[in-house]
Amino acid sequence: MRIKRSLAFAAAAAALVAVPAQANAAPESSQSSPTGQTAQQPVERQVLPAGDGWASAGAGTTGGAAASPERVFDVHNRAGLLAALAAAGTEPRIIRVHGDISANSGPDGKALTCTDYAAGTGYSLEQYLYDYDPARYGTDQEPAGEQESARRRAAAKQAATIRWDIPGNTTIVGAGPDSSITGAALRINRAENVIFRNLTVRDAADCFPAWDPTDGATGNWNSEYDLLQIINGSKNVWVDHSHFTDAPNLDNLQPTYFGRPYQVHDGAVDVTNGSDLVTMSYNRFSDHDKLLLIGSTDSTTRGDVGKLRVTIHHNSFENVGQRAPRVRFGQVDVYNNHFVTAAGSPVPYGYTFGAGFDSHINAEANAFTLPGNIPASAIIGHFKGKVITTTGNTINGKHVDLRAAYNTAAAADKQLAEDTSWTPTLRTQVHPAQAVPALLKDHVGPVFTAGDNH
Ligand code: CA
Ligand code: CA
Repeated sequence: MRIKRSLAFAAAAAALVAVPAQANAAPESSQSSPTGQTAQQPVERQVLPAGDGWASAGAGTTGGAAASPERVFDVHNRAGLLAALAAAGTEPRIIRVHGDISANSGPDGKALTCTDYAAGTGYSLEQYLYDYDPARYGTDQEPAGEQESARRRAAAKQAATIRWDIPGNTTIVGAGPDSSITGAALRINRAENVIFRNLTVRDAADCFPAWDPTDGATGNWNSEYDLLQIINGSKNVWVDHSHFTDAPNLDNLQPTYFGRPYQVHDGAVDVTNGSDLVTMSYNRFSDHDKLLLIGSTDSTTRGDVGKLRVTIHHNSFENVGQRAPRVRFGQVDVYNNHFVTAAGSPVPYGYTFGAGFDSHINAEANAFTLPGNIPASAIIGHFKGKVITTTGNTINGKHVDLRAAYNTAAAADKQLAEDTSWTPTLRTQVHPAQAVPALLKDHVGPVFTAGDNH
């Protein structure tokens, strides 16, 4: 694909933040090959352009683009990927993922099921449902006792199998547009300078959801895993042209226990615990409920204050339930995205922009394609926020002042003022909202083929 990115804002951005020379190389710029011919950088050698969102601030985001040949890993299965992730050294590394890699599998490559993880732990869903049935156990306390302990033992076995950390100075890419990782709980954990591109990531299903009768008025089943977690002070992360989805294991295919959905999924891409400087661009997010959580607590003691800065631009959100994103603390720039909910969406629509505690969302020139039963007033969700800026957004092609629509329907103590505290500058070209659906069609999610040597 060839979407031209204007660097018109780069000069302004460079004046505000230190951008190293390395990060100034546009990813689709040309370089001379040994034969003297001009060739485009392959996807795994590209870096985040200067001025392209919060991940271009600070040290910029180059990932593993400069990896030496012995630090370019072609991986085709779980064992190969884990070896590449674990390879010693902090020098740049490139990981090219081929085909589908399934996380729920053993060292021998054999597929593992939930029954395999539960074996030997004493856990049985049937017994768990019996022991913690509200009619028997009540609703005042979280599950404790034999079956809850067994559930935790089984969950620990699954976590040890599917939770994989991506180290700093890494670029991980799909070798082709059909490359995918299934069932993994990926993390960028205490890591800096990571590029994640051209990959489909699907269905980080938790085999062992926990019942919590004290969660909300009705109790809830909660699951552990996000598709990609950016956590614990990680920074300078670029997530681009990837696809995050529950499909084909959708929430509406799960049973209901104790009157509540048996929720096996948690977030899609969550940014928490003091992480900072993230750009998400040209991704597809589809068929998922709680999508992008930016900040997981109102507490000011976890290092979130002044962090959690994220840019979300030119992504397609298809049948997403809520948190797209939900924000605490961070300055979050959300522009030129297409939010589509089908009339027959398998995921119930809740809201899109969640204004949480001390959040600073700037939502600009986004396009919404919504069925008639979702009103404009529903697009903003209120979670202790005070401010939000919304400009130039459209619903079904017509300009709508989303903040005004929200305030018209909201209670007096939940009104949101315009956010005058900051103005985004780290942007590529901003398109009119009406142009966004056509601009993104066929250009989001994995579209690239990596370079040779594989
Ligand atoms: Ca949850
Ligand atoms: Ca989570």
